[in-house]
Amino acid sequence: GPFVSNHGGLEMPDGAWLDTVVFLQVIQDLLLDEDAWREGDFLEKEVTFEDDGVRWQDISAGKIILCQGAYGLSGMSGDDAWFSYLPHRSAKGEILSLWVDGLDETKRYHGNGWLAPRLGGMWKAGANYDWANLNSTPTDEGKEEVLTKLRTWLKEDDVPMEVIEHEAGVRPIIRNSCPVVGFHPEMPQVGFFNGLGSKGTLMAPAVAEHFAQYLCGECDLDAELSLEGFQFGTTNSKPPTQAENQMTQEVVKGSLISQAHGLLKGVIQSGDVVVDATLGNGHDTLFLAQCVGEAGKVIGFDVQEEALVATRERLSVAGVDLGVAELHLKSHAELSDNVPEGVSAVMFNLGYLPGGDKTKITQWESTEVALRSALCCLKKHGLLTVMCYPGHPGGDEEARVVKRLFEEFQKQSCQVKCLQREGARDTTPFLLVAENAEKC
Ligand code: SAH
Repeated sequence: GPFVSNHGGLEMPDGAWLDTVVFLQVIQDLLLDEDAWREGDFLEKEVTFEDDGVRWQDISAGKIILCQGAYGLSGMSGDDAWFSYLPHRSAKGEILSLWVDGLDETKRYHGNGWLAPRLGGMWKAGANYDWANLNSTPTDEGKEEVLTKLRTWLKEDDVPMEVIEHEAGVRPIIRNSCPVVGFHPEMPQVGFFNGLGSKGTLMAPAVAEHFAQYLCGECDLDAELSLEGFQFGTTNSKPPTQAENQMTQEVVKGSLISQAHGLLKGVIQSGDVVVDATLGNGHDTLFLAQCVGEAGKVIGFDVQEEALVATRERLSVAGVDLGVAELHLKSHAELSDNVPEGVSAVMFNLGYLPGGDKTKITQWESTEVALRSALCCLKKHGLLTVMCYPGHPGGDEEARVVKRLFEEFQKQSCQVKCLQREGARDTTPFLLVAENAEKC
């Protein structure tokens, strides 16, 4: 087929899409018919407050509700906005309109990036994440980034692609990527409806209805959507600086594996479901099985039969009930199909099977897919640990890719750190740990 790898992607036969541009035009026409539409530049400083309402231009109203997307969070041209105290991780993204030949137009595809059909051979493809340049200017780098993602799983020889159009926008991303609604803590006339990024948008109709009911005094605001949960006064409006982006480095004594085990013991409870993404000789599986106990489950992956055999052997010697371990002779790239959401830990130990075939090492492409899926399966405060070996052949590139990925995780919703032993060099192993601070 047209795909480079037989793992690490999915075809979605069902699904629908909303053309938000057309949708907004339709809404605009409705409002025009009602004489309820005005176009103009809006500046916060041009709003004046009256006894029990607000005034903007010649319009007086009881309340004003700001639906400004990312601008309402980061402020126009560096000015603080009324709501810039809200923590957010808004991200610029670029999307391509492509002409693609040879793909089934009844499906949409998710791999590294995504492809969704439009009409007559046209497809939309996206997207990248840029947290630094919050503007709507398409860039060559962004376009290349999206195409590069697609080429990791699409054979361009079989599936010729041509870029027809290229757009950029900024997704306003607040807590849990959900919409946030409510009123300003110090200006009760000033309302807020925001957080409609690519995920938040899906919830927009339901949240709009809920907010309308609240405005009519028919219900209380759902705490998960309400602005009230945010602390006012501390400003988080500035994008993180380079220094804040650096992940925490810790120098540790003793083995990195035992460090990982120590951290994991702190979060795994008996009865939990956890994952060993690289069985190897089963040391980590045994540790995990002992943490979760007979009521729990360890889901394991390895591409070599001998690793499954060695792991089963180690478990039985230790007297562990084999029913606790669900072992797959599969790549961890298939993790998302085999692991439920809400696991408390996922361990990776990269490289080759100690004492086995040194050519059968983990590969950065599948490792990256697996790590992204792993993060999504973690429950809140769950831990992802990865042992990286930059000193092994092929391991240095993989270690670089994984480190970059963890930097990306950090910019999203994770606490991330890198542990190394004293006197570490570029080639010494390191341990990466990510805590899922939010459900992703
Ligand atoms: N945790 C092990 C060591 C792991 S060695 C221990 O404590 O002994 C790395 C293992 O990853 C090897 O057994 C190798 O077969 C496996 N591996 C390589 N590619 C893989 C993939 N795509 N999916 C799952 N396992 C893989």
